[in-house]
Amino acid sequence: MGAFALEFVAAFAAGLAGWTLLEYIIHNVLGHWPKGKTLVSAEHIKHHKNILYFSPLPLKIRGAVPVLGGAGVLFWLAFGLPCALGGVAALSLGWTTYETLHKSIHVNGPRTRYGRWAAKNHLYHHFMRPNRNHGVTTPLWDMVFRTHDKIDVVQVREKDLNDIPWLNAAFANPEAAPAYLHDYALRTSRRGESEAPPSID
Ligand SMILES: [Zn+2]
Ligand SMILES: [Zn+2]
Repeated sequence: MGAFALEFVAAFAAGLAGWTLLEYIIHNVLGHWPKGKTLVSAEHIKHHKNILYFSPLPLKIRGAVPVLGGAGVLFWLAFGLPCALGGVAALSLGWTTYETLHKSIHVNGPRTRYGRWAAKNHLYHHFMRPNRNHGVTTPLWDMVFRTHDKIDVVQVREKDLNDIPWLNAAFANPEAAPAYLHDYALRTSRRGESEAPPSID
């Protein structure tokens, strides 16, 4: 392998790892910390308040282009062209994978062991503790920054089920449901108990 290819591959590997940290920063630091006072945060809180809302693609692209472009220029100046190309390619792949997985958690439901873990981890963030378990593709940075909860069962309010069609279908026919149904329990509201969703602040 030539020097160009070697540098590209090394930067690509580093870029994939780097993406997982960027994903944590975008979700927790940019999405949650400003409590809706910035565009990124407002879009994310909107997704928490209405779980069926996803930022439109043009808006996502408008956010991603300056980040990827800026990273590319920085890598180029610091490490040269092969590293810049490898790094930006990896960040783009990581970002696309994250977006696809996130949408799939909400819309399609798990098809693999990894998908089962990802759904449980992310729906716990939505339905129980929005200030914990921010990582969508990996729990790594939640562990590093001590925002990771080990999850027993995700408690789901009955009215939230309509927004998660695959989980709704599993609860509707528990005998035929896949094993992942064990990861969830219906939270039946007792009298006087608040039906309010968990606070995002
Ligand atoms: Zn989500
Ligand atoms: Zn969130």
